[in-house]
Amino acid sequence: MTKVVVVGGVAGGMSAASKAKREDPSLDITVYEKSGYISYGACGMPYVISGQIPKLEKLLARTPEKMAERGVTARVNCEVTEVDHARRRVTVRDLASGKTFGDAYDVLVLATGARPVRPKLPGVDLGGVYTLRQMEDAATLQEAVARGAKRAVIVGGSYVGLEMAEAFSEAGLEVAVVERLDRLLASFGPVPSKLALEELEARGVEVSLNTEVLAFEGEEHVRHVLTSRGALEADLVLVSVGVRPNNELAKALGLTLGPAGAVVTDAQLRTGLEDVYAVGDVTAVHHLVTGSLAWVPLGDTANRQGRVAGEVIAGKEARFRGVVGTAITKVFDRTFATTGLTPEAASAAGFKAKSTTTESRDRAGYYPGRHPIHVTLVWEEGTERLLGAQIAGYGDAPKRIDVVAALLFGRASLRDLADLDLAYAPPFGGVWDPLLVAANVALE
Ligand SMILES: Cc1cc2nc3c(=O)[nH]c(=O)nc-3n(C[C@H](O)[C@H](O)[C@H](O)COP(=O)(O)OP(=O)(O)OC[C@H]3O[C@@H](n4cnc5c(N)ncnc54)[C@H](O)[C@@H]3O)c2cc1C
Repeated sequence: MTKVVVVGGVAGGMSAASKAKREDPSLDITVYEKSGYISYGACGMPYVISGQIPKLEKLLARTPEKMAERGVTARVNCEVTEVDHARRRVTVRDLASGKTFGDAYDVLVLATGARPVRPKLPGVDLGGVYTLRQMEDAATLQEAVARGAKRAVIVGGSYVGLEMAEAFSEAGLEVAVVERLDRLLASFGPVPSKLALEELEARGVEVSLNTEVLAFEGEEHVRHVLTSRGALEADLVLVSVGVRPNNELAKALGLTLGPAGAVVTDAQLRTGLEDVYAVGDVTAVHHLVTGSLAWVPLGDTANRQGRVAGEVIAGKEARFRGVVGTAITKVFDRTFATTGLTPEAASAAGFKAKSTTTESRDRAGYYPGRHPIHVTLVWEEGTERLLGAQIAGYGDAPKRIDVVAALLFGRASLRDLADLDLAYAPPFGGVWDPLLVAANVALE
């Protein structure tokens, strides 16, 4: 019987374990997870903290008990501390008992994910200075809110920071966001950056751009965030300045690392080392627009990679083709989406890029409840190959990004987009869909 050990039990690891078991029930699979939970929707945590989702447990997709019913052993509070690949053994520390034990494997899957960057600033270890990645973090933030925190400062204006600005605000806190760059949501391009700022300010969130955090001050608990533009009062601080791959085991195994130190794999999620696979946020991915390796840590990618690795481990043919960098986020009523490259990223990747932004409406002009929708298209001058798109709008309207994401998989052109037969009825858009409007303007 082939023994599979999976390190990390969230999106990538549990997808790999579940799929492998479904495809080949004879596999003996054990998942070791350092935290107290497996298989949860980390992406839902902001909506629990806002109070929109009544309790954290709602995010749990599977428990160790449910996995046991499916024939997969999942052990929480168990950290894999060492891998001896020559002997095919892992060393595991049971964090509850403090005891260490060993386990053997034939196949190893590294699904160790990523962790938040915690900058080494003075006062960063004070009470009330948090990061958000795991269920335990979300529970701590929920408790801080329940204890009556009045004012939250968020360090970092990326999508997680802004989702949390909304969450704290919905939970009744005053919120300030501090961002060192001159814009928010930098990876979503200039129009979402500007509109997200407008939305936050309209909702009473104080935003400081071009502002560096210098220190956190307080006795035992944070009271002020000292920035390059003065001090901000805080009962709690969320540091959300990016993540880094948990690549320690990969490094110790001597695996090839790529961008940001993420593990390089082939399309079957194999690392260079025989019978060692890697999936999820710990891996680098092939970016289908640039043709290069990139680090794009996202939950849907981790799930898809896990599924492919599971199939391959079970002896099936499967391939992870790569990503085009599609993402979507909501900031209060506004929704922002991106796929492929922003104008800036396209130029940085060496493309002779052109872009245009059009504003139209997400329903027919005469239909009630319509909202503006901004579509930015990015393409290569000369070939007119589509390189990316960003959409800013309301509700589900920016989900149109998926049309462009699909086109990017096929290296389509602006003309291919303009020629598409898209669905139309007045409650869903104009007779000219906002994507077609944008493509036609770009082709003029
Ligand atoms: C607030 C928030 C919102 C998000 N929203 C979205 C979203 O809307 N859309 C989206 O696509 N993505 C979103 N993400 C990102 C998404 O959650 C991650 O991309 C996804 O969880 C990655 O899955 P993973 O399995 O690769 O890694 P992780 O979720 O990081 O899981 C890895 C697990 O491995 C465990 N581990 C690490 N080392 C060891 C070890 N040595 N032994 C045992 N266990 C170990 C860790 O404890 C961890 O639980 C969000 C993330 C956060 C924090």
